Amino acid sequence: MGKSSKDKRDIYYRFAKEEGWRARSAYKLMQIDDEFQILKGVKRAVDLCAAPGSWSQVLSRRLLGRKSDDEPGEGTSAEGEAAKIVAVDLQPMSPIEGVIQLKGDITEERTAYEIINHFDGCKADIVVCDGAPDVTGLHSLDEYMQSQLILSAFNIATFVLKPGGDFVAKIFRAKNASLLYVQMKQFFKEVYAAKPKASRQSSCEAFIVCRNYQPPEGYVPTMINRMTNMKGYDSYVSSLTDGHLRGIAKFVACGDLSGWDSDRSYSLDLQAERKTLELNGVPIPNATFPEKYVYRELQPVQPPTEPAYKIAVQLKKERKLARTSDAQLQVPRNSANGSE
Ligand code: SAM
Repeated sequence: MGKSSKDKRDIYYRFAKEEGWRARSAYKLMQIDDEFQILKGVKRAVDLCAAPGSWSQVLSRRLLGRKSDDEPGEGTSAEGEAAKIVAVDLQPMSPIEGVIQLKGDITEERTAYEIINHFDGCKADIVVCDGAPDVTGLHSLDEYMQSQLILSAFNIATFVLKPGGDFVAKIFRAKNASLLYVQMKQFFKEVYAAKPKASRQSSCEAFIVCRNYQPPEGYVPTMINRMTNMKGYDSYVSSLTDGHLRGIAKFVACGDLSGWDSDRSYSLDLQAERKTLELNGVPIPNATFPEKYVYRELQPVQPPTEPAYKIAVQLKKERKLARTSDAQLQVPRNSANGSE
């Protein structure tokens, strides 16, 4: 791939670098907030699965009015009150002023208590989660792991969220999404499936936006994923697909619909791009067209501080990394997929 081909291919990646966001996903949270105003009046926010930190940057900028990651001082919300942000991840991340970092696992109950401790025993106004487990490449397993992570985020939310609070999490609109909507509707007054413009249309990624937390009376927070552990789970899932009890969440497309399209490739010369769009009668994004494109070396915007692949890189440098031999990689003839 050429030096700037990724910049050409992905307009949000490019803007993220230009505007100093640690990941392009910052735009997804901002577009969700622009649509739902989820950050209005928030004094305590929790960012689950936060590294490398672009969602925490959005929280810090929108709740504390900061313009950069290292701007010192207390920081206040638009209403002039100090807001507290707690970010949790398995991985450490570079500091962001005003964001308390917690290295922890969102599948563990103690993480919930650590968050509450940082809020001096108070509950949060919002919990957001852009979590993703490491991908194995086995589609069903990946989908299952993702759904378990969302349920863990939700379980943490049941410990830390105040009644009336909001919960936003990344989901995949896969076969069990209906079940998730049904479950969320037991706990929140409003449930939406949001698709920000910065999330590729070609991806089944979406965000569940759950508003006004009202747990069932007497509900005791737990980390046990009740839905997937309950007796008769499989028949329950199939009953959802019959239409009976079907979980449907209102689908909301967020962001300027004639805005930058995450599935398109744009020329590095955006002024020229504007003229081409005009000539072809394609709607022109309302966002500004920078005069000149400047390639920035830093890729990605914020590299992970402790990447999972760090040991492998070190071993490779020392020529100690075991290599899979070609013989091991060969697909045997008459293998199950019958491709040979
Ligand atoms: N929202 C982030 C941002 O805007 O920069 C990007 C999040 S990244 C897509 C997914 C993150 O989920 C990874 O940093 C990973 O370490 C974290 N993660 C996965 N499983 C986790 C778990 N059980 N507990 C905490 N973090 C987890």
